[in-house]
Amino acid sequence: MNTLKEISTHLLVLGGGPGGYVAALRAGQLGVATVLVEGAGLGGTCLNIGCIPSKALIHAAQEFAHARAQVGGSALGIRISDPHIDVAQTVRWKDGIVQRLTGGVATLLRKAGVQHVQGWAHIEDGKTVTVRAPGDSSPSLRIRCEHLLLATGSEPVELPAMPFGGALWSSTDALSPDVLPKRLVVVGAGYIGLELGIAYRKLGAEVTVVEAAQRILPSYDEELTEPVLQALQKLGVVLHLGCNVTGWDAHQGVHIRNAQADEFALPADRVLVAVGRRPRTQGFGLESLHLDMAGRCVAIDARCKTSMRNVWAIGDLTGEPMLAHRAMAQGECVAEQIAGQVRRFEPRAVPAVCFTDPEVVVVGPTPGEARAAGIDCLDASFPLAANGRALTLQASGGFVRVVARRSDHLILGWQAVGQGVAELAAAFSQSVEMGARLEDIAHTIHAHPTLGEAVQEAALRALGKALHF
Ligand SMILES: Cc1cc2nc3c(=O)[nH]c(=O)nc-3n(C[C@H](O)[C@H](O)[C@H](O)COP(=O)(O)OP(=O)(O)OC[C@H]3O[C@@H](n4cnc5c(N)ncnc54)[C@H](O)[C@@H]3O)c2cc1C
Repeated sequence: MNTLKEISTHLLVLGGGPGGYVAALRAGQLGVATVLVEGAGLGGTCLNIGCIPSKALIHAAQEFAHARAQVGGSALGIRISDPHIDVAQTVRWKDGIVQRLTGGVATLLRKAGVQHVQGWAHIEDGKTVTVRAPGDSSPSLRIRCEHLLLATGSEPVELPAMPFGGALWSSTDALSPDVLPKRLVVVGAGYIGLELGIAYRKLGAEVTVVEAAQRILPSYDEELTEPVLQALQKLGVVLHLGCNVTGWDAHQGVHIRNAQADEFALPADRVLVAVGRRPRTQGFGLESLHLDMAGRCVAIDARCKTSMRNVWAIGDLTGEPMLAHRAMAQGECVAEQIAGQVRRFEPRAVPAVCFTDPEVVVVGPTPGEARAAGIDCLDASFPLAANGRALTLQASGGFVRVVARRSDHLILGWQAVGQGVAELAAAFSQSVEMGARLEDIAHTIHAHPTLGEAVQEAALRALGKALHF
């Protein structure tokens, strides 16, 4: 006899990360009957174990580094003696921010009339899902729906020889450290490994980064990553590029093989393995739908539809770029379609920010990518060393670069590297999305003194009329 409680809804969302919760919220606001099932915490990876806690830790580490830099006096005339950090308190402060934001999501969903079910979903078919409460071995609820939205996100990739646990940290462990390690080895010089590696170095750990590619941030243009490389060296982060990790033991540490096939070991108290993330596609019956896949990701079209009618997918589950703001934008797009609107997910660019020190922002193609795509383009950079605000912030390294079509000056992309440039991402995305031309940016009055003036100056320079360079 079937003892499961049953409910029906128009839209059923699996996963309460930025993709899933935004979709549910928008659908609820539009009057669509919506149920959201989440097995862990509302807010998903982003709010609980990703974007927000990592940026909190990075900020705390930066504050501590600033304090330490003033010991014995500084050019600014500030003197501090013996700064100290209580990492357990730092983690409590970070957790407080997470709780505030995840609690806010719960309130927003409630206000929008979304039913939030806490539990792990298992797909029976494209219109039926069972839910097991966390800790239970069997389901207690069956939900039937007209539309199923898959937003189950991604999970960190494990190295077979180094499964997570104990001294072997995933990014999740690194965000709630049990101790501040004396020696931390970071495997992977992508944005997650470097953001956290830099933070730990600033907190006082000896940090070594091992990367299989020959350069850091391998998916980014080298001109942008060069200032990050220099900053890592200045900070005392040791880099082993072109090296593979072959194993680990508590006695010798991390076993490495370099390009010449030499083998050596790096002693470590903790090892952060940050070698990528993969879509979460297993363990909840997804395979029973036989959806078309794009590699390991669920394949979707420009409306975020999968190959099965009324089954949609968004966010990290659908592949790169695995970023929270892409997931949110897709979630909103799907919800509005289910509510009857005509929408497509076809952004001109999805901004990407590395919160390294210095920060890196990429919106749209680099000059190399534009030319490789056969576009005749102009590009121009403006150095932050010529920007007054950057000097007053002691942040004069780096530059802002614009890429535009030569024929009509349509802006295709922006890139920047420097302290505080993450906040320029909005201006970059707006100009690309709105189809701005170099003249639009060059002739807009930008407030003085701000880093934004470097944006205007890059556009002026592309037009051959830079003022301050
Ligand atoms: C350390 C770190 C830092 C990051 N920093 C940034 C950043 O600065 N900016 C940025 O844009 N992105 C960042 N990201 C990436 C960002 O977190 C993800 O791109 C984003 O969270 C993806 O959203 P999503 O909704 O697709 O999935 P997720 O946020 O992963 O949410 C999926 C949710 O689905 C739930 N779920 C899965 N399966 C089931 C099931 N069967 N039943 C019920 N629930 C289920 C999971 O518990 C999870 O909560 C970072 C990631 C990490 C790890």
